[in-house]
Amino acid sequence: MAPATKKPPTKNPATKKKAAPGAQPSKAPASKAPPSKTYTAKAWGAGSATSKLAPLTIQRREPGPKDVQIEILWCGICHSDLHQVRDEWKEAMPTVYPCVPGHEIVGRVTKVGRDVKKVKEGDTAAVGCMVDSDRTCPSCRDGLEQFCEQMATFTYNGPDKHLGGVTYGGYSDSIVVDEHFVLRVPKKLDPASAAPLLCAGITTYSPLRHWKVGKGQKVGIVGLGGLGHMGVKIANALGARVVLFTTSPGKSADARRLGAHEVVVSKDAGAMLKQAASFDFILDTVSALHDLNAYLALLKRDGTLVQVGAPPQPVPISVFNLIFGRRSLAGSAIGGIRETQEMLDFCADHGFGADVEVIPVQKVNEAYDRLKKGDVKYRFVIDMASMK
Ligand code: NAP
Ligand code: ZN
Repeated sequence: MAPATKKPPTKNPATKKKAAPGAQPSKAPASKAPPSKTYTAKAWGAGSATSKLAPLTIQRREPGPKDVQIEILWCGICHSDLHQVRDEWKEAMPTVYPCVPGHEIVGRVTKVGRDVKKVKEGDTAAVGCMVDSDRTCPSCRDGLEQFCEQMATFTYNGPDKHLGGVTYGGYSDSIVVDEHFVLRVPKKLDPASAAPLLCAGITTYSPLRHWKVGKGQKVGIVGLGGLGHMGVKIANALGARVVLFTTSPGKSADARRLGAHEVVVSKDAGAMLKQAASFDFILDTVSALHDLNAYLALLKRDGTLVQVGAPPQPVPISVFNLIFGRRSLAGSAIGGIRETQEMLDFCADHGFGADVEVIPVQKVNEAYDRLKKGDVKYRFVIDMASMK
């Protein structure tokens, strides 16, 4: 997704509004010859904030000594893809077009550079939201590449240090990534349902671990979408008592099946009141603007509300909800590479991936329309065989 940046986004070359070198709609003639040591990959992307996603060709670099080339087999559709493609985050992270989204990537290693140690040809491997960072700053040294002081390079719409222009994501038939940002996919995981773990999984696992959620705690998860359904599964696996807050009463039975001990329909004021001041921790995964004060009021003394959902608009907060009860409001961005591997292994050990609806790439625009309406159970995953 879109971790907050420490540098003004305007200094990020990727955010300048210009056409990205190395990519053009497949029907348009190339404006200049691609740089050497690249190859042409198939992809799907959007040419503007209002256009539908359509086939494109893009240039990928040939793998260097530390690079891994992956044939992409599965790619999840995150709500961040939709925010970015539609330029909904234009204030913080303007979109450079064409935009090829996708940061929940699982595939087969087809080539490795001579110095690569982490994976070998034929392995099932994964790529999440980042493909690079400075590797030397305190955050990178702590394994928190998402908070890199030079700003991590996101898998799409980030400045491409190798080819110029911006990076292109996983709605594509292949990708080339430095081995540091490649994850191993445990054999116990089904590869299609593992794909959403690369963003939805780690974005919920990381704060649940950071705030030490576990047995004896009452934990709320707000929103049962891609992130939320993983939050429910992981919080349950960590031993917490899990309460799911939803605007969709029809999701109650699924929420219980996924691991919620209780379901609260957040539009029901009486049901919300019954939960007042009873939570140790609440994780809010909602993609649209909504009232956070309603959730702050549900925290116990010293409880924490962590926001991972990223609505574009500023959120009004009543400070009294923080002052009384010494409550905290925090945010969290994806997770580092080491922790992402830990999360994949955790999910494999507990025997779950995401609940997915597999679609061919030709249905991606329909999937975006359904995502916008909250009509997904609970993550769309593109079967890249459909791109061939
Ligand atoms: P999603 O699958 O669309 O799920 C979002 C859920 O939020 C919906 O299913 C719905 O759940 C609820 N919701 C939607 N509109 C709502 C509204 N107006 N009021 C209240 N609830 C509403 O999205 P996702 O892929 O899980 O992503 C969720 C958000 O997290 C996005 O903003 C995304 O950009 C962000 N994100 C952040 C990070 C990070 O690092 N912090 C990483 C990935 C994604 P119910 O039907 O149950 O109410
Ligand atoms: Zn995401």
